[in-house]
Amino acid sequence: MTGARSPGSRPRRLSLSRWSVRSRILASLLLVAALGLVGAEVTNYLVQRTLTLSDVDARLVSRVALARSVVTRSENGFSTSSEALRSVLAGVLPNSHEDALGIVNGRVQFYPDVVTDIHLENDTAFAAQVVREVGTKTVWLGTTDSQVGPIRYIAVPISVAGDPQSAIYVAAVSMDQELAPLNSSLGTFAIIAVVALLAIGLVGWFVAGRLLRPIRQLDAAASRITASDRRERIPVVGTDDVSELTGTINDMLDRLDSAMTGQRQLLDDVRHELKTPITIIRGHLELLDVSDAEEVAATRALALDELDRMSGLVDDIEALADTQRGLLAIAPVDVADLTADVFAKVQGLRGHDWMLVETAQARAELDAARITQGWLQLVDNAAKYSPPGSTIELGSRLDGDEVEFWVRDSGPGIPDESLQRIFDRFGRVDTGRGIHGSGLGLPIVKAIAEGHGGRVSLDSGTSGSRFGIVVPVGSPQGNEGEESDA
Ligand code: ADP
Repeated sequence: MTGARSPGSRPRRLSLSRWSVRSRILASLLLVAALGLVGAEVTNYLVQRTLTLSDVDARLVSRVALARSVVTRSENGFSTSSEALRSVLAGVLPNSHEDALGIVNGRVQFYPDVVTDIHLENDTAFAAQVVREVGTKTVWLGTTDSQVGPIRYIAVPISVAGDPQSAIYVAAVSMDQELAPLNSSLGTFAIIAVVALLAIGLVGWFVAGRLLRPIRQLDAAASRITASDRRERIPVVGTDDVSELTGTINDMLDRLDSAMTGQRQLLDDVRHELKTPITIIRGHLELLDVSDAEEVAATRALALDELDRMSGLVDDIEALADTQRGLLAIAPVDVADLTADVFAKVQGLRGHDWMLVETAQARAELDAARITQGWLQLVDNAAKYSPPGSTIELGSRLDGDEVEFWVRDSGPGIPDESLQRIFDRFGRVDTGRGIHGSGLGLPIVKAIAEGHGGRVSLDSGTSGSRFGIVVPVGSPQGNEGEESDA
């Protein structure tokens, strides 16, 4: 059985990725921190190890120097190499982590008279290795594995003139013991690193959660926003980029809200406007006496007239919707050519004297077809609302970085109280002269002007009106392809 979802609820498919963003931030943080800590410690360890090893070598070399000085100081007193070797072992005492051996004829015969940290006297394999290595060389510095673990050692032959015995002095250092402090500091560091990573993880988890909170709120608010209740907005907290994003989304919601309100308004207006012709046609058809040929002809004419009006209304609604969708084909246009084209078209309209008063010499970035459509709408209104046979003037004018396409008539003008309303959809003003219209002409002109980043100009008095479309000469900013508010 499948459970019914409450209205407005939606699958929470985003929750996984939302958590994973938090986890991913944390993982990146921990990875970088861990790499940094390990890198720093490994470098430190290697440097310290190198220093320790060179210190060991320096100590071993100094043992040889000491051994030589013991032999040199007392050379006249030694009759055998073995005797000299014993004096060396008695005079050069091993330090911590060190041991020393005196090897005579391949066997360990002397060792220090003090307690040493390591004991090599019983390591016969090591003694044999040293004897082999020293051979004819004077000094041998090497590293090997002994009974006490890895050692670094130095071996030097001790000889006394006239004594054929082979005597070798050996000083050795336990590497394990030398490196023990360094190795134990590595362990301490590992504990500190783990604690630091835990702290970074904990702080990172809360900080990431805090930073992502507006996005969670955004998600929750977006879920709450429905077609019936679009007032919900996300609270903007702070001044960081997340709050900037929140502000941008709130603005977008405002625009969507007003676009939807506009659409609903348009639907209401259209329904209202279509109701009248439908009612008229229906009323006449209901009362029609089909036996009366004259009445049938009159009703037919009336119905066709009303249907033409409805069809004109639908065309205007489509034109308005297209204009408000704002898909303009902006291109550089020669304003003088455009003016001449429109004036040529206007002269085909009968019933008035048309006069081209001025022509702007300029190039402008605009949609020539839309500007022509809007200008001709103004021309059409002027022709509709001014007395037959009167002169109607038109022209284009450059004013700073704006160009105006205007039409002046000698009609009744527009009453002050109606100045705003005439630009609203279906905002008709009854001129008392029985002139029909959809009430969409001026809203279309306004949408065209605003689509170009411009406006409609209007100067109206009792002796006529002057309407104009004012647009910037340069390319309109951010209007191309943008949906304008209804
Ligand atoms: P329509 O002309 O279809 O009624 P418009 O949107 O073109 O719709 O015009 C709205 C109203 O503005 C008209 O009903 C009319 O009252 C007024 N109007 C428009 N142009 C003129 C004009 N040139 N002179 C006087 N009134 C005008």
